[in-house]
Amino acid sequence: MTRDNLHVITNAYVNKILIEDKKAVGVEYSLGEKHETVRCTKEVALCGGTVKSPQILMLSGIGPRSHLKSLGIECIADLPVGKNLQNHMSCQLKGHTNDEIDVLSVNDAMDPKYQEQYDLDQTGLLSSNVIESVAFIQTGLEKDIEWPDLQLFTLPMYYTSGPDEPTILGIKSKDLYPVFGYDDNQTDAMAHKGFTMLPFMLHPKSVVEITLASTDPKEPPIIDPHYLEDPHDVKVLAEGLRFSKRLAETGAMKAIGAQTIDIMMPGASGDAYSDENLEKYIRHIATTAYHQVGTCKMGSNDDVTAVVDPKMRVRGIKGLRVIDASIMPHLTSGNTNAPCIMIGERGADFIKSSR
Ligand SMILES: Cc1cc2nc3c(=O)[nH]c(=O)nc-3n(C[C@H](O)[C@H](O)[C@H](O)COP(=O)(O)OP(=O)(O)OC[C@H]3O[C@@H](n4cnc5c(N)ncnc54)[C@H](O)[C@@H]3O)c2cc1C
Repeated sequence: MTRDNLHVITNAYVNKILIEDKKAVGVEYSLGEKHETVRCTKEVALCGGTVKSPQILMLSGIGPRSHLKSLGIECIADLPVGKNLQNHMSCQLKGHTNDEIDVLSVNDAMDPKYQEQYDLDQTGLLSSNVIESVAFIQTGLEKDIEWPDLQLFTLPMYYTSGPDEPTILGIKSKDLYPVFGYDDNQTDAMAHKGFTMLPFMLHPKSVVEITLASTDPKEPPIIDPHYLEDPHDVKVLAEGLRFSKRLAETGAMKAIGAQTIDIMMPGASGDAYSDENLEKYIRHIATTAYHQVGTCKMGSNDDVTAVVDPKMRVRGIKGLRVIDASIMPHLTSGNTNAPCIMIGERGADFIKSSR
């Protein structure tokens, strides 16, 4: 912050990139009621994230020509901005354990006794990071891949975060609350000892899209939710639930009294782990992991599906880079934050080394 060449404006809301003769020359932003512009001498680096970067590009005239035309925006560069949106989806298998064992209930997590112990010497139940183990698994559904297609978090906690949780986790039906141990005042669920397994599907085949809802920069764009459209994605999550079930039946888990909550969905019959029941359950309960990427895809110069080149420069526009999760052509086989930090570092290097 003490550098002469750094000026930070907080609460500024970028409306669009200013482009003249196919060159980015600055940014228009709002500060409260005021509209301001700032001009650049070298280039503009757009880092609005997977949802907002494509929105800002499209508002600036960079995006699919027909879509921009439908909103009366002049198309300066016809690029597949907003396409290729990918996100990790997850579901959950919960279970109970013996009450004697040292795992967290939500009540424990909020108990000042454990908080004090942790504050004092960083020990006790709250020294758990809650997601204590992560497995990367190849389900075998896709042959010849060298990477995992499933990530499995195991939490030594009957995971429930309060009365609003059913909304947060995307559970749509009150019918399932009692099965999961939710009640209106959450008393039972909060006191439960138990565990939660969260399988994540890592490489979705269902590809989603972001488009503009209007030309108003403050209006959120439309995210077209085709999640789980491709049956393959459901199969991966089903394998994740079956794997979790097998894990819960190991000797080590039996020794702590592990008992999974196996949910039969309305209209399904027979085995809770059948394809039919798991598909209904997954389509009901699956939620995004907030790992959205891909809407300003990086690719080679002859890749018609790419928005930015291998140096993160927007194709066909000078002086404009996108440097955030939106440039990932494919989702990573794991959480996205560290890869985004790498993208930021790499982008900074590209800018520094450019003339
Ligand atoms: C709830 C949640 C939990 C997550 N948990 C994890 C996790 O545990 N581990 C993990 O690895 N990843 C996690 N992620 C994902 C991770 O946070 C993202 O992948 C990563 O932050 C993306 O980085 P980014 O730079 O692309 O975008 P962002 O971090 O979203 O940065 C974009 C920035 O641009 C700003 N911005 C957007 N539009 C405008 C505008 N018009 N004007 C001005 N500023 C604007 C935003 O305010 C934001 O600060 C989580 C994400 C969420 C939402």
